[in-house]
Amino acid sequence: MKRIYTHDNIVVLHSAKNVLALNNIESFVKNEHTIPVGARHGISNIFHELWILNDQDYDKASRVIETEIVNPEPKASWICSNCGEENEGSFEVCWKCQDVPLST
Ligand SMILES: [Zn+2]
Repeated sequence: MKRIYTHDNIVVLHSAKNVLALNNIESFVKNEHTIPVGARHGISNIFHELWILNDQDYDKASRVIETEIVNPEPKASWICSNCGEENEGSFEVCWKCQDVPLST
């Protein structure tokens, strides 16, 4: 088991859990029903933890979290200024000529 994500808003964690489930990744929320020691001292920032069941899902899960939860804006595709080829927004260099886009 590995911790994949932490957030103080349980709703965000549950939507992350749902997104992982859609990608066939089993996960569970830790600390959901426990009151952390810090709460007794007036600390309200309770960080809930999302854990994945299978360690081999970690790379995929972190990509899913990154693209769906942390940074959900779809990236626009871009045209390579060197060779004119269209690249997907997630590509950091041109797939055809490995040129780096000028406008980042
Ligand atoms: Zn190119």
